[in-house]
Amino acid sequence: MIVTRFAPSPNGRLHLGHAFSAIVAHDLAVARGGRFLLRIEDIDGARSRPELADEFRRDLAWLGLEWDEVPAQSTRVVQYDWMAQEVLYRSLGVLYSCRCTRAEVAAAARETAPDGSQVYPGTCREHPVIGDTSHCAWRIDMAQACEIAGPLTWVDELAGEQQARPELFGDVVILRKDAPASYHLAATIDDNADGVTLVTRGMDLFDSTHVHRLLQALLGLPVPTWHHHPLLLDANGRKLAKRRGSPALAELRQAGEDGRVLAEHLRAGKLPAGISLSEGLHSDL
Ligand code: GLU
Repeated sequence: MIVTRFAPSPNGRLHLGHAFSAIVAHDLAVARGGRFLLRIEDIDGARSRPELADEFRRDLAWLGLEWDEVPAQSTRVVQYDWMAQEVLYRSLGVLYSCRCTRAEVAAAARETAPDGSQVYPGTCREHPVIGDTSHCAWRIDMAQACEIAGPLTWVDELAGEQQARPELFGDVVILRKDAPASYHLAATIDDNADGVTLVTRGMDLFDSTHVHRLLQALLGLPVPTWHHHPLLLDANGRKLAKRRGSPALAELRQAGEDGRVLAEHLRAGKLPAGISLSEGLHSDL
């Protein structure tokens, strides 16, 4: 059975781009007789606002969607830690501790990853912290991990078969020092734990899938299919964002707009003035 999901982070209110994403995931599941899941991605304790999770549920109901909710990320911290420490560190030996600050990485980095982050220059790879690692992040030795995993492919329903290229991201953080796990590790473990078979999300996360595919191989997890949908863009061709003035769904709801009508319009491609759908199969927005 097909299982899709919508996985918002409660660090900002949902806007039309989120509505579109939730509708795509919901409709793919319904059209194929499957399940649509809601997962609250609250791994980032410092930025998460618990009250937003309830607002998200009200937004989705207002859009006329029905879902099954699975455990939030904050309930899975032990699993993230176990997978990282027992499998990646102890069994495979592909993690190392890193004490570099963000500023140090920025100063030494020479390459940029596809998601715009800086590729870690490898400073701590040869000299990881021994002893007290409580103030360290844990990074993956990407070259070694790729060698263990061998060549990998993954399939996006819209873009077709992809050669996995996790090496473009370099030694990414797997366990953060300021949060229990990185997005890459948490999303990979959660999608497996939730039985997701079709990972549905925006094209802006397309490249992250290279890293997720590698982690699946290392952790021995089954491989889902992906569906990276186009994004809603503002009048300047940028991805919708609350900080760039996209109204929150909650504001539209409170102003008396009909969420089901809005959902039908989004499905039919009738977008509000100034908003368009991104083109192409892959986007660097
Ligand atoms: N939590 C992420 C976000 O709100 C989505 C992650 C995903 O769909 O894999 O952008």
